[in-house]
Amino acid sequence: MKAPMPWQTEAWQRLQAQRRADRLSHALLIHGPAGTGKGLLARALAHSLLCREPSPQGEPCGRCRDCTLIAAGNHPDLMEVMPEEGSRQIRIDAIRALVEADTLAVEPGRARIFIVEPAERMGTAAANALLKTLEEPVPGTHMLLVSHNPDRLPITIRSRCRPLNFRVPPAGEAAAWLRQAVGLDDERARLLLELAGGGPVKVLEWLDSGTDALHDRCLEGFLDVARGGAEPSAVAEAWLKEADLAFLLGLLGTWLTALVRAAAAAERAGPLGVRLAGAVSVPDPGNLYRLLDKLFESQRRLSHNPNPQLVLEALLVEWRRITGR
Ligand SMILES: [Zn+2]
Repeated sequence: MKAPMPWQTEAWQRLQAQRRADRLSHALLIHGPAGTGKGLLARALAHSLLCREPSPQGEPCGRCRDCTLIAAGNHPDLMEVMPEEGSRQIRIDAIRALVEADTLAVEPGRARIFIVEPAERMGTAAANALLKTLEEPVPGTHMLLVSHNPDRLPITIRSRCRPLNFRVPPAGEAAAWLRQAVGLDDERARLLLELAGGGPVKVLEWLDSGTDALHDRCLEGFLDVARGGAEPSAVAEAWLKEADLAFLLGLLGTWLTALVRAAAAAERAGPLGVRLAGAVSVPDPGNLYRLLDKLFESQRRLSHNPNPQLVLEALLVEWRRITGR
């Protein structure tokens, strides 16, 4: 998958004009919802800055030494900092290594790029270590911070970056792109977009990892409980064999929200709401809000290591009750 994507074209052209004029900001904060391709854009920008002969639109030549090094994944002047596998936080050592790498001068006309993603996963110590690099930039270096939670970044970091904000593209545009990228039909694309919070790149990740099929299986269980065809305890148990509690609570939240929206105004229901409202009936929609409240409460308690089976079972029992069974 290659950036810029259609919904990034305008921002991309602006960045490329700045690159040509040698006026690109030393530090960019690329932010917006998950799954809109921010990381891909950061890498495409890095590539256009490192290539010896990019087109005016920033298309890398693909032949120069730098392009070859990037393709091999070992360009010495492109450094990506991410949380280590299995860890949520970006380690301070990783940021220290970045700061260390940023002490040498950059050859005139050349560039050195650092990508930090997701930037909000830096702890306070790591953010402080990065701050010095942001305050005293070495000419020719570019810091690309990628974040879908920029509010969690210290203000000292944010204030030193030029923000570049992405929104989710309109559903029609995103669905058309998904059709072109992976041949997804419009209805399925719109349903998955709704589930993924509108991020088309996230939908691709879901397709790659089989999360879309997992969702469908979980949704069947949810509907079966409402129709009286399955016991809440059995459904909860089956779900937990495939996914963790946080993910499942997220799914429940998406389904209930879609139903709330469909109950409030049928014409504004998304594809998910239409499917759900067609399959189950909730006589008193006020109950949906009450169940959503309970769900949010369970999400808040996630950090207290609750018993996943009990949490899901309680919510599903309530779900069965309000659907009139
Ligand atoms: Zn090149």
